[in-house]
Amino acid sequence: MSTQLLEFNPSNPPSTAEGAASTWMARGACAQSDPNTFFPHDGVGVEVAKAICADCRVTSPCLEYALVHRIEHGVWGGCSERQRRRILRDRRAAARSTGLVAVAA
Ligand code: SF4
Repeated sequence: MSTQLLEFNPSNPPSTAEGAASTWMARGACAQSDPNTFFPHDGVGVEVAKAICADCRVTSPCLEYALVHRIEHGVWGGCSERQRRRILRDRRAAARSTGLVAVAA
C-alpha cells in the first residue's frame, strides 16, 4: 500500500513494527501508484487494485498488516474489504474451535 511512510534505507533497516511495515510497503507494487487506486468506490476499481497486487512481492505482510490493524477500507494484500472480513471471521471461528480465542479477539 502506498503511504506517506515509505522512507526505507536498506543499509539501516528499521527495528520497530511500524518501521518494518514501511520496509515491505516500500517494496510493494503500489509504491509508485496513486493511493486512491487502492481505495476504490466500486467493483471495477477493486479489480484494478487487485490486478496490481497480483504482481506484488509483499502481499503476505501487506494482508497481515491490514488484518492485524483491522483496516476496514481499501484493497490490501490483494484482498477486498469483504475478503478480509471473511478471513477474520474464519480465523475467529477457527480460534473458537481450537480454544485460541486470544488471537482473534
Ligand atoms: S499487496 Fe497490493 S496493496 Fe499491498 S503492497 Fe502489494 S500492491 Fe500494495
